[in-house]
Amino acid sequence: MTRLALHWQILIAMILGAAGGLAMNFSAGDQQLEAPVSFPSGELQPYGYSSPVSVSKGTFWSHDRPERVMMQIIVDDGNQLTEKRVFVGPMERSEMEKTPGSQLSEMTNWPSPKQPVAQTIEIVKPTLGEFKKADPASYALFLRYGRSPARHIGDRLKLVGDLFLRMLKMVSVPLIIFSLTTGVVGLGHADRLGKMFGRTVSYYLCTSLLAIVTGLLMVNILQPGLDRSASPETSGAAVEVAEKGKSLSTVLFEQVENMIPPNPAKAVTDGQFLGIIAFTLAFAICAVLVGGKTVDTIRMFAEAGFAVMMKLTMAVIKLAPIGVLCLMFFATATQGLSIFGHLGLYMLTVACALLVHAAITLPLILRFVARQNPWNYAKAMSPALLTAFSSASSNATLPLTLTSVERRAGVNNRVSSFVLPLGATVNMDGTALYEVVAVLFIANLTPGVDLSIMQQIIVAMTALLASIGAAGIPHAGLVMMVIILQAVGLPTEAQGLIIAVDRILDMARTCVNVWSDSCGCAVVARLEGSSTAET
Ligand code: ASP
Repeated sequence: MTRLALHWQILIAMILGAAGGLAMNFSAGDQQLEAPVSFPSGELQPYGYSSPVSVSKGTFWSHDRPERVMMQIIVDDGNQLTEKRVFVGPMERSEMEKTPGSQLSEMTNWPSPKQPVAQTIEIVKPTLGEFKKADPASYALFLRYGRSPARHIGDRLKLVGDLFLRMLKMVSVPLIIFSLTTGVVGLGHADRLGKMFGRTVSYYLCTSLLAIVTGLLMVNILQPGLDRSASPETSGAAVEVAEKGKSLSTVLFEQVENMIPPNPAKAVTDGQFLGIIAFTLAFAICAVLVGGKTVDTIRMFAEAGFAVMMKLTMAVIKLAPIGVLCLMFFATATQGLSIFGHLGLYMLTVACALLVHAAITLPLILRFVARQNPWNYAKAMSPALLTAFSSASSNATLPLTLTSVERRAGVNNRVSSFVLPLGATVNMDGTALYEVVAVLFIANLTPGVDLSIMQQIIVAMTALLASIGAAGIPHAGLVMMVIILQAVGLPTEAQGLIIAVDRILDMARTCVNVWSDSCGCAVVARLEGSSTAET
C-alpha cells in the first residue's frame, strides 16, 4: 500500500484537528460552576510554572466560555475576605456602558459571598495569557477548578503539539549552522556571496513593500472600524506589551547588535538566529579565504553534519501530522467564535490582503522572475506552509521550509541555506501587511483621528521596519505594533480589542511569511543561475 504524501497527511490532520476542536468548542466549551468551590490554603504548581504559587484558603467560582471567562475568587487571609472579580476576553461598549462606575458588577450574577467582603478587586484582561502573567495564583486556581472540558482537552493537546515544536526547534539551530556553512563553503568565492546578499535583501524589501501597499489599498477600500461601533477606549483591556516604551530606532539598533554576538556559543544556546547567521557566515567566509586543506576539512565536516541533520529533520517532520492536529484542535476548541462577528470586517480586510499578496503578487513574481510554476511550487512547499499556519512561528517552521525547498522544490542548498534562515528572521510580508491594516483599523476606531496620507506613509515605513524587527515567533507582530502606534500617536491600549483575534490572524500571516521566504529562494536561485529544478 502506498503511503499518503506528507502534505496530504498534514492537510487531513489539520482538517480533523479543526473539526474536532470545533465540535468540542460547541458541545463542551461552556462550563459554569453551579456553586463556588472551597479550596484550602497551600501551594500550587501547575505544569508550566517554574516555582509554586501560594494561595490562602477561600472559594472559587467561574463561568468559562470560549469567548470570555468570568471568575470570582474570594480569599480569606485570616483577618478579612477579599473578593476578586475577573473578566477575561474582549469587552464590548454595550457591556461597559451598562455599568459606568463598576464595570463588572452587573455583567453576571456573581455568587453572593457568605460573609461580607472587605474589598472587591476587579481584573479585566484580554486573554488568559495576560491574566496568567498578572495573577498567576488565580490562574492556577482556574486551571484546577474552572476550565471547561473543551479548554481542558485543548490545553492537553497543545502540550503534545508543543512537543513537536520543541523537536523542530531542537533541529533548527544545528541545521542552520551546517546548512549555511555548506552553502558558503560550496560557493568557493566570498564575493559571490555579496551579490547573493544584495539580491536577497532587494527581494525582501520589494515584496514587503508590495505587501504593505496591498494592505493599505485593502484597508482604504473596506474601511474596517469606520462605523465606530467599538471604541478602543471602551475595550477596557490594556495589553501589557513587553516592547512598550522602546522606540523604533532602539529596536532596529538592537537588531544590529544581535548580529554581533559577543559570545557566539550563547547565541547558539539562546537560539538567537541573527547572531548565529552572522557568526556562521563570518566563519565560513574566513574558511574560504584561508583556503587549501583548511577549507576542505571544514567542507567535509559541514557536509557530514548537514547530511545527519537533514536525516534527523526528515524524521521529525514525519510527526508533523500529529503536531498539526493537536495545535489545530487547541486553536479551534478554545477560541470564541462570536468574536469573528464583532471584528469580522477587520479580519476580512487582513485576510483579503494576505490572499491577494499570497495568491497574486508572489505567484506573479514566481512565474515571471523565478520562472517557476506557482501551483507546483506551492504544492512542494505545502508541508512548510501548513505547519506555519498551525504553529504561527516562522522560526519553528524553518526546518520544514529548508527541507521542502531543497528536497521537494529542488532549490540549490547554497541559496536556500542563506535565504531561508535570514528570511525567517527579517522577511515578514504577512506581518508588515497585517501591521498596516491593524494600525489603520485602530485609527478608524479612535474618535477624532483621521490619518493623513503623510501619516499613512509613516505607518507604512514603520511597519516595514517593525516587520524586520519582529521575531519569527507567535504574536511577535502584535508586540511590535506598539512602535507604529506610538509613531503616529495612537492609543496603545487599543490593542486590547484586536488581541482576541490575533491567534488566527497570526496563523495566516505566518503562512504568508514562510511562503514569501520560499518564493525568495526560487527568485534568488534563478538570478544566481544556480540549478533549480522546474517543479
Ligand atoms: N508569528 C509570525 C511569524 O513567526 C510573526 C508575527 O507575529 O507576525 O512569522
